[in-house]
Amino acid sequence: MTAPLIKGYCPGALRPMQSGDGMVVRIRPFNGRLRRAHADGIATLASVHGNGMLDLSSRANIQLRGVTQDSYAPLMEGLGHLGLLDENEAAESRRNILVTPFWQTGDETPALATALTQALGAADAPAIPGKFGFAVDTGAAPVLQRASADIRLERDAGGGLILAATGAALAKPVTSLTVIQEALDLARWFVRTRDNQTRMAALLGQGTALPEGFIIPRQTQTYLPAPGYTPLGAMVGLAFGQLPVETLASLAKQGSLRMTPWRMVLVEGARDLPDVAGVITDPADPLLRVVACTGAPACAQALAQTRPIARRLARHLGPEQILHVSGCAKGCAHPKPAALTVTATAQGFDLIHNGRASDAPARSALSPDDIIKAL
Ligand code: SF4
Repeated sequence: MTAPLIKGYCPGALRPMQSGDGMVVRIRPFNGRLRRAHADGIATLASVHGNGMLDLSSRANIQLRGVTQDSYAPLMEGLGHLGLLDENEAAESRRNILVTPFWQTGDETPALATALTQALGAADAPAIPGKFGFAVDTGAAPVLQRASADIRLERDAGGGLILAATGAALAKPVTSLTVIQEALDLARWFVRTRDNQTRMAALLGQGTALPEGFIIPRQTQTYLPAPGYTPLGAMVGLAFGQLPVETLASLAKQGSLRMTPWRMVLVEGARDLPDVAGVITDPADPLLRVVACTGAPACAQALAQTRPIARRLARHLGPEQILHVSGCAKGCAHPKPAALTVTATAQGFDLIHNGRASDAPARSALSPDDIIKAL
């Protein structure tokens, strides 16, 4: 099997990535929120300068596909007018910040996210690796603990602000005045202390102790993301995190969008959402339990299409079963094990139980019909 190509960085808007269907331009919404004008503007730009399809990423970003060398410059000009670009590539690359979508007007979450954004944009910000990230998860209870981040702002059971490192059960008590500096200090400690690790959990997992002061027990997340109405608006899902520009434009008419890492967006203030083509509102929809990467032809490394087969297989899943369909052994859409993984190979599809896309298969060289029979 040909080894998949590891590119080692996340694309941005200022640093796009070449893919099988043109350039991927990833927008990192400031504070995890797209105002209606932003979402509408992105939909227009994606239809004019991209291929009309958008993806939500597991970092709560939104990306355009099919951007060409010619369309890139006018696209950047449009994104700049919308105020969606960082000052430079380095600042954009460091600004990996997830924000809880459940903040309320008047709470300090947006202010903390803004302060962290500014701190990471400064010229003397720590030189963190490209995939290193932060979570501003400062609602009453954490909701982002299963999402990718390395340094987390959370609250303890008594409501106090704490600073946590992914992989550690104890956190440091901080205040809203000290937390940003403390977060940067922890990032600098990581940069100084690491060998070749790029993530906090890997560094702590090899037995490295955190600096002093991490003494407060963290809360454990109980929240399970699901479509439905919340006091803040409507949470809706997107199959495979993919949405055509028309869907984004329709959602933008309903309210500003809070981005999540769950292939869902929260439509602010929506109490009675009309039918919007392409969105999942039923929390029992099996497509919510299916992860599939871009696949062929959009990804040059893909050995087959992924999403058509994923849609077929979704109907045959057992309750609670998670399915991952991967266009190659790299498994970028779901690096963790899944109950069922289907990996495209040059010979057909591998079927893997309780493993990753690159793990040893239970069966190989299967057709889609073979897989359905085997489920
Ligand atoms: S896992 Fe999918 S998206 Fe990632 S490189 Fe392979 S085919 Fe491409």
